Amino acid sequence: MLNLVLFGPPGAGKGTQSEFLVKRYSLVHLSTGDLFRFNIKNETELGLLAKSYIDKGALVPDSVTISMLEDAVNKNPDAKGFIFDGFPRTNAQAAALDTFLEGRGTSITSMIALEVAEEELKVRLLERGKTSGRADDADPAVIQNRINTYNKETAPVKDFYDGQGKYRGVDGVGSIEEITERLVAVIESL
Ligand code: ADP
Repeated sequence: MLNLVLFGPPGAGKGTQSEFLVKRYSLVHLSTGDLFRFNIKNETELGLLAKSYIDKGALVPDSVTISMLEDAVNKNPDAKGFIFDGFPRTNAQAAALDTFLEGRGTSITSMIALEVAEEELKVRLLERGKTSGRADDADPAVIQNRINTYNKETAPVKDFYDGQGKYRGVDGVGSIEEITERLVAVIESL
């Protein structure tokens, strides 16, 4: 299996690049942000809970996020591999994912990070907020909170995979096609 963690701060382009990579490598795309938004739209209990955190730019608690992600993996027993987008976002999530995949006889192949400077992220997220309909993209204070949360809780996950020799960084600034080419070059080298 090819199991990739596509990593990077909010607005780095994980969703955009995932769309292309899932087609090219016949993978299943699992975005925890998309899964939460689906639940919010359908007004599920999970959606209601998640919304209270997402609207502030905070992380949804690990236990809830981990079980949602595991359910999503279990729903795809025939998958050739996965792109995990927006997960893991904490070291506890990364450790849980390792244990879970090990139980299924597989593991993470690599974490590939899209590297983008903070100022560029803010510009991109505010721009996306004009059309995405996402409340968390429209408010500069929420955007700043998401970036702060990323720096404090999520950035350390890089060291988790680096310690396993699985971390690869890619310059996330350029045209969509250029960045795709960089990602493909890394994947082909794995
Ligand atoms: P972005 O990467 O643009 O911030 P996402 O769509 O990945 O957006 O996530 C939106 C929000 O959903 C996050 O700000 C967070 O509140 C919540 N979320 C997504 N993934 C996770 C996760 N793995 N753990 C906790 N909360 C998460």
